[in-house]
Amino acid sequence: MSATLTPAQKKLKERARALAESEIAPRAAEVDRTEAYPWDNVAALTRAGFMGMTVAKKYGGAGLSYFDVVLVIEEMAKACGVTGRIVVEGNMGAIGAIMAYGSEKQKKLAAKLVLAGDKPAICITEPDAGSAATEMTTRAEHRGDRWVLNGKKHWITGGGVSRLHMIFARVFDEFDQEQGIGAFIVVRDPKQAAGPQSAMVTVKDVIEENRIKLSPSTVRRRLRAHFGAAHKSRTRWRFPRHSPDHYAVLKLLDAHPGLIIGAREPAMGLRGIPETEIIFDDLEVAEDMAIVPPGGWRHSFGALMNAYNAQRVGAATVALGIAEGAFQMALSHVQEREQFGRPIAEFQGLQWMLADMSTRLAASRALVYKAAQGAGDGFPDATEAAQAKIFTSETAIAVTNDALQLFGAAGYSRNNPLERMVRDARMFTIGGGTAQVLRTLVASRILGRKLPQTRDGYVKLMHNRPTTRHY
Ligand code: FAD
Repeated sequence: MSATLTPAQKKLKERARALAESEIAPRAAEVDRTEAYPWDNVAALTRAGFMGMTVAKKYGGAGLSYFDVVLVIEEMAKACGVTGRIVVEGNMGAIGAIMAYGSEKQKKLAAKLVLAGDKPAICITEPDAGSAATEMTTRAEHRGDRWVLNGKKHWITGGGVSRLHMIFARVFDEFDQEQGIGAFIVVRDPKQAAGPQSAMVTVKDVIEENRIKLSPSTVRRRLRAHFGAAHKSRTRWRFPRHSPDHYAVLKLLDAHPGLIIGAREPAMGLRGIPETEIIFDDLEVAEDMAIVPPGGWRHSFGALMNAYNAQRVGAATVALGIAEGAFQMALSHVQEREQFGRPIAEFQGLQWMLADMSTRLAASRALVYKAAQGAGDGFPDATEAAQAKIFTSETAIAVTNDALQLFGAAGYSRNNPLERMVRDARMFTIGGGTAQVLRTLVASRILGRKLPQTRDGYVKLMHNRPTTRHY
């Protein structure tokens, strides 16, 4: 499918490509090497108007479609997968859900943040609830005029850099009756840094990282009261970072309002965006920060997952862009590199590899564009989004790998961007719904019935399950 672009879309794509080539591509290797969130790229994206493009004009955005965003993501991801992902999350996922189902207050808040460059975090996955997301145990209890959240998420993209968090939890009313799975908006204070990933943290580090204003005597008194004599055996109040003691010190020194950024995952690729644990310890959320789609809590998870279809199309586009970038590199290389006295592009074995790579890319692009264009003013269809993500994520693995092969030893060098692209591409069959689980979703649509994966076919209620305390 070769999409027919309007003049405005052609211009948008050209602007995205120009930015990707001039500013984003030159920084891609450095972002990967340092594993530092690319704030410079975020500033460039924000200046170009590529964050919050889908936000309605009424809220300060450009009111563009998901297909428009796909055109931008594709160009960014050719240059840098991390930056492609930032554009996804600045336009799809959480912001899409809030714009569709949020209150006026929530929409204004979310729009303001993404338009200023924030990449919201979506907090669903837990250590014991990955593919089985509905088995999450994070609880949101209604107490008076607020919600109180307790639980632990992991592999949350943007942990420690995102301000807006959309947190999924099981919802309990005042009578401890479970209402369903819902989502809550929490804005992290930017001064609450995730901190570097060194092994130990001192109380001095905690004070500096969190800009704590307490007097030294208050700090000492609180620590002594909590740790008693035990502190004397701890050399200068040093603790393993992200340990229960570290969290206890944060709490003792009023350093956080119940939302704790935990350990960073040592991810294989896409290293410029942190994935971390996020812990909720009696996190208080104002009543009006619950996102309640029409139909109430019982239908909340299903409705919010509709918004997630856009995120899946976005992820598929990043995979597509990475693969296209790798293909372009390989195409140039095979025409320049000579062996046996001629360019290696003259060998039929390699010609057929190139033909297969380009065929996969064309099919991937067709699926992604179809899902995005089909969304219209709403969200992409679940089947189309899943098909796009399955096919494109597997294409990205195959195409980046073949591109590396076409470079021979030069492809195996860490100085070659392909090494990064192979690692980056590997993520997309896992994050945001695995290729296996998405196949089950597609099959259930084909067969016209739900295909429950639990032993007894039902999503279990959480009553009588212990609430996990984390420290
Ligand atoms: P598991 O569910 O344990 O699956 C293990 C294997 O079993 C997989 O191959 C899976 O396909 C297979 N499997 C499981 N159940 C079935 C089944 N019923 N049928 C067939 N096969 C099955 N989560 C968030 O909430 N927010 C984020 O921002 C986020 N970002 C992420 C970023 C990255 C880089 C990664 C890698 C993950 C991220 N995740 C995030 C988590 C991601 O969504 C989960 O990893 C994913 O849903 C799979 O869960 P799991 O890792 O626990 O794997």
